[in-house]
Amino acid sequence: DHLANKIAAGEVVERPASVVKELVENSIDAGANWVKIDLMEAGLQRIRIIDDGAGMDEEDCERAFHRHATSKIIDENDLFHVRTLGFRGEALASIAAVSRLSVQTSTGEEAGTKLEFEGGHLLNQGKSDARKGTDITVEELFFNTPARLKYMKTIHTELGHITDVLNRMALAHPEVQFLCTHNEKQIFKTNGRGDLLQVIASIYGRNVAMKMVPVEVETADFTITGFIAKPEVYRSTRQYMSTIINGCFIRSIPLNKAILQGYHTLLPIGKSPIVVLNIEMDPILVDVNVHPAKMEVRFSKEKELYDLIEETVREVFRKQTLIPDV
Ligand code: ADP
Ligand code: MG
Repeated sequence: DHLANKIAAGEVVERPASVVKELVENSIDAGANWVKIDLMEAGLQRIRIIDDGAGMDEEDCERAFHRHATSKIIDENDLFHVRTLGFRGEALASIAAVSRLSVQTSTGEEAGTKLEFEGGHLLNQGKSDARKGTDITVEELFFNTPARLKYMKTIHTELGHITDVLNRMALAHPEVQFLCTHNEKQIFKTNGRGDLLQVIASIYGRNVAMKMVPVEVETADFTITGFIAKPEVYRSTRQYMSTIINGCFIRSIPLNKAILQGYHTLLPIGKSPIVVLNIEMDPILVDVNVHPAKMEVRFSKEKELYDLIEETVREVFRKQTLIPDV
C-alpha cells in the first residue's frame, strides 16, 4: 500500500506548487475564510498551510490519509468537482507518501487530532488543541524519491510556480483571505472581502487595478463578470488572461482568442490584455471530457459563449470611447 501511495504520488505531486494547490483547494472546499501559507525555500524545505475551515474529527482525519478517501460527493457534471477528477481522494495520501507530514485538525467542539507521517507511515498520533480548522506541515518533500527531488528546479522557479497557483486561487476566490510568507517574509496577501479588484491590485499592482474596467453581462445561458484592462495596459504573454468557470480556474485557447478578438485592433500586435473573467453557466453545459490537471475544459454552446465574450469586450470599449476620460 505504501508503494502504491508512492507511485500515485508521482501523478499528483509533481513539485511544491502541486502540494500548495492540493492543500489550499482542500482548505477552500472546507469553507475556510482564510488560508495561511508559510513556505521555506520555495516549499522544498517546508510548506505549512493553516486554515479556519470545518476541520476534521479523528475518524475523518485518519480516513483522509487513505487513498480514495474523499468525503466529497462527486457530481460528474459539476465542474467544481471535475477539477480534482484525476486524483480525487488521493492528494493527502500522496503528499504524505513523499514527505514528512504532520496534521493538526479540529472541528472546534473538542480537542483535535494530531497525526505525524514519514514517507506515508504513521509515526505518532495524539491530541491537538480545539481551534477550529486544519494545520498541515509538509517537510522535506521528495526525501524518499530522489529521482523526483533531482528534477526540482531553482528556488526561484519553484516559487514562481507556487505564486502562479496562489494568484489563480485568489482570483477565483476573492471571498477567501490569502496570506503567504516565504522564508518568513510576507510575499502575498489579500483581504478576503470578496472584492475582485482588490485581489487584482494585490497581484498586478494598484496602477493596473486602476486601469481595469468592470464587465457584467447576463444571458439565458451565461453570466459573465469581472474586469478587463484598458487597451493601454498590456503584456507580452497570455499568462495575464484569467478565465474562471463556475469558480474554477481554467485555460482555454479559444476563450483567450475570443477576448483578443473583442479588443480587435486596440492592442498592439502580439500583445495580450490583463483580464479576469468569471463565467457562470449551468454545469450541464460543461463537458466532462476534460483534462483537470491541465485546467482545460470544453462546453456545449461553445460558439455562443465565444461570440458573447467577443461582443462583450468590444461593447465595453465602444462605450469607453464615447465617454471621455476625466
Ligand atoms: P479530496 O479533496 O479529493 O476529497 P484529499 O486527499 O485532498 O481528497 O482530501 C481527503 C479528504 O480530507 C477530503 O475529502 C476532506 O474530507 C478532508 N480534508 C482534507 N483537507 C481538509 C481541510 N483543510 N479541512 C477539512 N477537511 C479536509
Ligand atoms: Mg483535495
